[in-house]
Amino acid sequence: MNTFLQYNPTKLYFGKDEVKQLSSILDKGLKVLLVYGGGSIKRNGVYNDVMTELGKMDANVFELKGVEPNPRLTNVRKGVDICKKEGIDFILAVGGGSVIDCTKAISAGAKYEGDVWELITAKAPIEEALPFGTILTLAATGSEMNSVSVITNWETNDKLGWGSPLVFPTFSILDPSYTFSVPRDQTIYGIVDSMSHALEHYFHRTENTPMIDGFIESLLRTAIATGPKLLEDLESFEHRETMMYISTTAFNGSLANGTDGGDWATHRIEHAISAIYDIPHGGGLAILFPNWLEHVLEEDPSRVKQLAVNVFGISPEGKEDIDVAREGAKALRDFWNSLGAPGTLADYDIDDSQFDSIAEKTFIKPGVGTYKEMDLDSVRDILARSL
Ligand code: NAP
Ligand code: FE
Repeated sequence: MNTFLQYNPTKLYFGKDEVKQLSSILDKGLKVLLVYGGGSIKRNGVYNDVMTELGKMDANVFELKGVEPNPRLTNVRKGVDICKKEGIDFILAVGGGSVIDCTKAISAGAKYEGDVWELITAKAPIEEALPFGTILTLAATGSEMNSVSVITNWETNDKLGWGSPLVFPTFSILDPSYTFSVPRDQTIYGIVDSMSHALEHYFHRTENTPMIDGFIESLLRTAIATGPKLLEDLESFEHRETMMYISTTAFNGSLANGTDGGDWATHRIEHAISAIYDIPHGGGLAILFPNWLEHVLEEDPSRVKQLAVNVFGISPEGKEDIDVAREGAKALRDFWNSLGAPGTLADYDIDDSQFDSIAEKTFIKPGVGTYKEMDLDSVRDILARSL
């Protein structure tokens, strides 16, 4: 194992009706900026629950609504302007990863004099941020308990991941019943994204990590057992709560303890695709990850073989390592396809015309992949396998 520091300051309130904690967490009389998306929280009653709690605290509520999936810099700037103009004390994100990521950027931008894009592109350091909390409505990204955010700039077609210890949520409220109304396709993308975060962590190069490896394998097996049952009954509290705990755990830092942190090349390639085609993150990952596995196993099948045996229960008896590994990559693809996730770029009408541009955008920040370091050709190879 490597030396490591375990640090996660986010207070997690998990369970039914935990929204009621809000009035005991927040001080009275705050100026609160409520950030949300395209209106799902108004249709499913979450908005009313939150406003009732904020009312008890005599909060002065301002709103930024309409945060889009794959959140855009334009809305971040709007939020920053409101915070500065109104003297906002606290931001409350109510939604999925997009709303939370947008809120993180607003929280950093609100305390910075220049343009927030300079912080996101690391042209200027983040020295201060406005505190914020989240009420999660979609189990997928883990953004509710990490310090990472992904923002798209449509002026430059760049989708950039960034982070700072200053943008951990101070608290997150996770009520699984708030995810009952998540549609089938978004539920599938959430399962894929959560599993992808676990897989990214799994592909590290650190020796002697049996505890973390076993933890990740257990998480993946649980997602594989739960996903299909949840899709049969989207309003099952039992399966929603299992998936919600999986998605938060898959990307809150705990799976990186003692390792080099994992690979993350697949996420970088997916962000580059989304920056051009605006496809759902989980859909892109479902297409790319099995092809990344096939790309890496040709050089070194050992880790993919371990995944095949320990997660998918594939027997290695009498087989070459590379064949077991190939069966593992296929098992992952088959599982996601069986849920209804897309399998090829053609499913999103994407052909090879922008491959060079996608490959270049993957390297918007240097250093892609730790388990296997990518170059332009290896990215193009994974894209070609994904056609
Ligand atoms: P999302 O983009 O936040 O939401 C997707 C859709 O689901 C929206 O249309 C939203 O509608 C709807 N929705 C959310 N909750 C709902 C509910 N309870 N009922 C009905 N509809 C609901 O999805 P996401 O997968 O959570 O976030 C994706 C973004 O996060 C991508 O930009 C991705 O790159 C990023 N990401 C971030 C991290 C991180 O650690 N920060 C990690 C991975 C990915 P409304 O707009 O109406 O709410
Ligand atoms: Fe992700």
